[in-house]
Amino acid sequence: MNACIALLGGTFDPVHKGHLALGAHFMQLLGADQLRVIPSLPWQKAALQATPEQRAEMVALAFAGLPFPVLIDRQEIARGKATYTIDTLRAIRAEVGADVSLCFLMGADQLQNLDSWQEWSTLFELAHFCVAARPGFALDDASVPTAVAEQFQRRLASPSRLRGAAAGLTCLAADLAEDISATAIRAALQRGERAASLIPPVVLDYIEQHNLYKN
Ligand code: ATP
Repeated sequence: MNACIALLGGTFDPVHKGHLALGAHFMQLLGADQLRVIPSLPWQKAALQATPEQRAEMVALAFAGLPFPVLIDRQEIARGKATYTIDTLRAIRAEVGADVSLCFLMGADQLQNLDSWQEWSTLFELAHFCVAARPGFALDDASVPTAVAEQFQRRLASPSRLRGAAAGLTCLAADLAEDISATAIRAALQRGERAASLIPPVVLDYIEQHNLYKN
């Protein structure tokens, strides 16, 4: 059987239990061999609060010790400038070869602006896309652009088909609905709350040690 790698990109400002749930859910569903977590320097989000190095360190702490292989891929922060997912997927595809199944994981909020991603329809030539529902963002939301919804419907397949093909399919998980966002966590920390139920304890310790998200 070909290898299967799940990819989880994000700003992780900070990483939280919703990210862990997203990764673990699809790792299990796909029977993937590795989860690659890719902290980004996004071109779409406003200035981030933690530095790229701090975000990558929090990601490494959060994803350590899970019952599946995890690789923290620092290529986007190493580039030192905002990068596009298409460039990262091209680099990973060149590295792993044509046959490996690459499954890019995302929350349903990402569907709403996927058509603004660089070369968005070419992304399907490089990877599969696995989308999890998020409270407030339904998979069939009217705010998902029609072209994006059509692509996802047309390419919809079972996890085992994604496992067996290199790219080009989609998979939806409606049963993962963790009501956690980094925005809400930053706001809670700013108010002086600990947000302990939303962040892994090692990450919370890191945030407190580095005095992050205070203002
Ligand atoms: P922010 O609130 O700052 O926008 P975020 O919580 O959405 O941040 P990101 O780092 O932007 O976190 O997310 C990385 C990826 O994880 C995205 O694809 C996002 O949709 C997904 N994700 C984040 N939180 C959840 C969640 N609770 N359930 C499912 N997917 C999630």
